[in-house]
Amino acid sequence: GAYGARMAEIAGYLNISCETLAPGETSRPSLDAVEALLQRDSDITHLAVVHCETTTGMLNPIKELISLAKRYNKVVILDAMSSFGGIQMDIGEMGVDFMISSANKCIQGVPGFGFVIAKQSELEKCNGLARSLSLDLYAQWKCMQDNHGKWRFTSPTHTVRAFYQALLELESEGGIEAREARYTENQTTLVQGMRSLGFAPLVNEELHSPIITSFYSPTHSDYQFKEFYNRLKEKGFVIYPGKVSNADCFRIGNIGEVYPEDIKRLIIAVKQSMYWEVV
Ligand SMILES: *Cc1c(COP(=O)(O)O)cnc(C)c1O
Repeated sequence: GAYGARMAEIAGYLNISCETLAPGETSRPSLDAVEALLQRDSDITHLAVVHCETTTGMLNPIKELISLAKRYNKVVILDAMSSFGGIQMDIGEMGVDFMISSANKCIQGVPGFGFVIAKQSELEKCNGLARSLSLDLYAQWKCMQDNHGKWRFTSPTHTVRAFYQALLELESEGGIEAREARYTENQTTLVQGMRSLGFAPLVNEELHSPIITSFYSPTHSDYQFKEFYNRLKEKGFVIYPGKVSNADCFRIGNIGEVYPEDIKRLIIAVKQSMYWEVV
């Protein structure tokens, strides 16, 4: 998906050679293909993988991929941007070396910073390796270690406060387990409601995340995303355009302070916004 492609793009900008395995946006990578690549190219040092591919809504089989990478002694980088805090995972047990996420997705904080949970022994190896001054993770960590949590450059004070508040709210909701259950109920309510209106999800249910769902766009010749989007927006709902190369889709996210009742209201709004339907 697009976020996997972005990883390769980032590597390209930084002159980090990388091999990409792109099995197509709606299917999971084959473990055999990953293993064959690891065997073929012994220069590979790291494996980077997206957990929830936010462009399609698909979940990658990270447990299997990480355990494979670990059998070959690779350092693992996990992009858990749109899953950490909303989907239970044990990154220690899986053996993730660097888990990257942000304040404003499943943690439900405000935008402003990203964070990394790293295996300290791996992080220590990064001393002096950064290709960017401001994105030097090791230097950031060292500064915090040596100065009682001080940020290296101007601290994002308000977003950190908001993050703290978001963590309290996550706790009072019942933790990640409860949040995952709510997101899952949101997502199944969404898919059920959308199906009843004739919309089909792009990704098979068994590969699906509880975070965001891509739906095929209506094939009716009167349908235009922009018009549909505007009508929904007038009713208080904002959806996303599709981000899949081989299919015409739109996306609906269901994370944040959103409950199944909100999804039900959304389904009514969608029904009222289907201006292309002959009524
Ligand atoms: C949101 C997201 C990112 C990056 O987010 P930006 O807000 O574009 O910096 C990266 N990977 C995944 C899987 C995401 O969902």
